[in-house]
Amino acid sequence: MTTAILSALPEEQGSLMHALHHPERIERAGRRFWRGELYGQPVVLALSGIGKVAAATTATLLAERFAVTRMVFTGVAGGLGDSVQVGDVVVAQDYLQHDMDASPLFARWELPGYGLARMPCDTALTTALFAAASAYLAMGGAGFEPKNAAVTRGHAARAHRGLIVSGDRFVCTSAESAALRQALAAAGHAVLAVEMEGASVAQVCHDYGLPFAAVRTISDRADDSAHVDFPHFVTHVASRYSDGIVHELLRLL
Ligand code: SAH
Repeated sequence: MTTAILSALPEEQGSLMHALHHPERIERAGRRFWRGELYGQPVVLALSGIGKVAAATTATLLAERFAVTRMVFTGVAGGLGDSVQVGDVVVAQDYLQHDMDASPLFARWELPGYGLARMPCDTALTTALFAAASAYLAMGGAGFEPKNAAVTRGHAARAHRGLIVSGDRFVCTSAESAALRQALAAAGHAVLAVEMEGASVAQVCHDYGLPFAAVRTISDRADDSAHVDFPHFVTHVASRYSDGIVHELLRLL
């Protein structure tokens, strides 16, 4: 069993690279991969880059050239669900590409050729990841000072499990996030968070028959202050969550 641990940005990868035993660096397609052993488990660490295509290329390389047997994504996302606040953690139950629209040929959001809009994550790996995220939050290591006064201070971070959507847009206006949430809700999709890579990695893992799970810490509310909250959170907090949650996960696997 070799687990790929993917993040979009270096800050989301945290200091996992420094905890790697017997690290081996491999460069391919402009990407840097680190193979080694993390907390007793064989892993490959990789940065996917930003957006669905960059992430799909990275995931394909991990499947083809590194023969990984499962993939885990750890990163940040914008909160869309009403109860999903900055500092909370969302574990993906399934993924949808919110910018996929081949209507009227196919239903809105349906992936042509797949017959579905929502790509499920692996149940067992997702359950382990949710347990790891909950355990990390229970340890109280997630505390942080929000930059934006609108973010509730002293809010006890929560772990959620549900639908995450991905698309090639940084969603950063209240109008756009409300429209996205409402359009999805009207079609029966209760969405928790939005980001830019996970759904494409889920699709690649589906194609290769590899288990996939993803955890996203909420860095912003995808609203008019997202451009303030996001960089603050990514610089000061994201890496701590990744370090803590991945450590817990590898202990559980
Ligand atoms: N400022 C960064 C770009 C980040 S894009 C840079 O210069 O490198 C935002 C990243 O965080 C993406 O990888 C995406 O997956 C995630 N993300 C966080 N909040 C988001 C939001 N509101 N909308 C879309 N993606 C978001």
